[in-house]
Amino acid sequence: MTTPVLNKKCPICGKQAVLEYQPFCSKKCADIDLGRWLKGTYVVHTNETPEEEALKNSEQEDE
Ligand SMILES: [Zn+2]
Repeated sequence: MTTPVLNKKCPICGKQAVLEYQPFCSKKCADIDLGRWLKGTYVVHTNETPEEEALKNSEQEDE
C-alpha cells in the first residue's frame, strides 16, 4: 500500500508532497506552515505604546 504522491516538493522540508496534505509531505509540515502564517499575522500592531504623555512630562528638563 503506497501513499499517493505529487510531483512537487514540500516547501517546509523538501520531501515529496503527498496528495492528502498537498502541497506538503505530511500533516506535520502543514501544521508548521500554518503556525508560521499565524505568527506572522500576530506580530503586527505592537508599535503603539502609551508613552507620549511620559515624554511630554520629561520635556521640562533643561540642559
Ligand atoms: Zn515536509
